[in-house]
Amino acid sequence: MSEEKSLNFLEEIIEQDIADGTNNGRVHTRFPPEPNGYLHIGHATSICLNFGLAKRYNGKCNLRFDDTNPVTEETEYVENIKNDIKWLGFQWDSEFYASDYFQKLYDFAVTLIKKGLAYVDDLSAEEIATTKGSTITPGSDSPFRNRSIDENIRLFSEMKEGIYKDGEKTLRAKIDMAHPNLLMRDPLMYRIKHEHHHRTGNIWCIYPMYDFAHGQSDSIEEITHSICTLEFIHHRPLYNWFIEQLGIFPSHQYEFARRNLTYTVMSKRKLLQLVNEHHVAGWDDPRMPTISGMRRRGYPAEAIRQFSDTIGIAKRENIVDISMLEFCVREQLNKTTNRVMAVLDPVKLIITNYPEGQEEIFEAENNPEDPNGGTRPVPFSRELWIEREDFMENPPKKFFRLAPGNNVRLKSAYIVRCEGCGKDAHGNITEIYCSYLPESKSGNDTSGLSVKGTIHWVSVKHAETAEVRMYDRLFRVEDPSNEEGNFKDYINPDSMNILPSVYIEPELAKAKPGERVQFMRKGYFCADTESTAGRLIFNRTVTLKDAWAKEVRKA
Ligand code: ATP
Ligand code: MG
Repeated sequence: MSEEKSLNFLEEIIEQDIADGTNNGRVHTRFPPEPNGYLHIGHATSICLNFGLAKRYNGKCNLRFDDTNPVTEETEYVENIKNDIKWLGFQWDSEFYASDYFQKLYDFAVTLIKKGLAYVDDLSAEEIATTKGSTITPGSDSPFRNRSIDENIRLFSEMKEGIYKDGEKTLRAKIDMAHPNLLMRDPLMYRIKHEHHHRTGNIWCIYPMYDFAHGQSDSIEEITHSICTLEFIHHRPLYNWFIEQLGIFPSHQYEFARRNLTYTVMSKRKLLQLVNEHHVAGWDDPRMPTISGMRRRGYPAEAIRQFSDTIGIAKRENIVDISMLEFCVREQLNKTTNRVMAVLDPVKLIITNYPEGQEEIFEAENNPEDPNGGTRPVPFSRELWIEREDFMENPPKKFFRLAPGNNVRLKSAYIVRCEGCGKDAHGNITEIYCSYLPESKSGNDTSGLSVKGTIHWVSVKHAETAEVRMYDRLFRVEDPSNEEGNFKDYINPDSMNILPSVYIEPELAKAKPGERVQFMRKGYFCADTESTAGRLIFNRTVTLKDAWAKEVRKA
């Protein structure tokens, strides 16, 4: 984070709090995921924000699993969430679970009942909804609203004992059924759910609502700045009301706008559908906007942090162009990846004047952006694979690659002059003939020739093969959730194109899963998590340039 950058509104609030000595200048944030899915890029911005503020102000940041809903939560998600946060480069100060507080929350509820501020209601969910009123009409009191404190204590305890069925009773805060804010009209605090919980098992059959769990958990942990997304803004008065009535540590809630990204969907519910209905191979499919998907695709953690920093935070919802994220990915990969040669769509090139059986090893520079990047050996011989598109028999003007009579440099090797090509019975080009200039060797070129085109190649004799998965955006429209019909109607049918046998230079066969490289002139790629020495698999992380921007210009 650059120091000259002006403060965002949360930093302003925090700096003011520090100046005022609020909480003795202490800053303590938390990241509170619900373990009901994998983290996505929206969560990543919240992680960078919460951990980033703690770091910047010498504070602390907790990881708290917001696991108050037993139905949707799973331990598998907990482990993956922790893994993703660590991979992003953050370490929490303490790890907590809202479910650890079930007893404390229960005691808080009893305190409110004793103060005459909560009651057990027998109305059904539908009845509660219809008696809520609307923004223009007040709600009406439940006939059970004025139960005695003793009766409420007995009934609430019976709810806990499991005497009642799901939905038979609820605990509600006694606030004001005519309050202008509908959330303040006697909101639910507890509901009965005879469900197994991933941590507390079958101990509890009543579970606190979000509004009665979140603020109290913040307060128990003495969180100073509880940052959440904008949809909770109307919950803030309730957040404060519970804390005030209980007289517990005054945590404060602040809201910022949810981050959305073009050409994807972000809600866990929708992502779960993509997984369950096999539109993708899993939560970590490289096309998913999940952190695990982006990692598998080859996005560096630095790029995601840089992206979060760049987009900053806002008070209004907006949708960020995915090309900004891709820009950050390219910028990081350009600095850090080795350039290697891989031929995706091969045709054979024969150097007619290079002796048969002769071989040379060139030391090729790994990364021109990195002076300490070193070199690697690349074998060269008479027959090479090159890209089919790098040859044209009848080229247009300004085609600087191979065409009869053209000179082209073979990267890290020699200049060759194209002499022509061989064809099969159908007229398809099967091989290309060139002669080479021995005095034009890279690094020791005395030919005096200057050539306009440089192409990559792989020696036929030394080539290894790999499966390459060419990934593209998962959706073909900017905002699939906002289109007519179902978001799944807008899945990009070309979001994955598998090239079963791509020729790669032999050094690349050593790539370990997760290793990132640039296939020269072709894009950035990453060895897949399932890649092995016996079956190499590379994922395309991102193209070298923004191909979609070009499409838009062409259109
Ligand atoms: P979803 O709607 O995708 O299921 P959620 O809000 O239910 O997300 P949680 O696990 O409750 O997911 O979120 C944990 C934290 O991450 C919350 O503080 C939430 O506000 C924040 N968060 C979730 N999605 C985004 C987003 N798109 N942009 C910024 N922050 C987000
Ligand atoms: Mg949520």
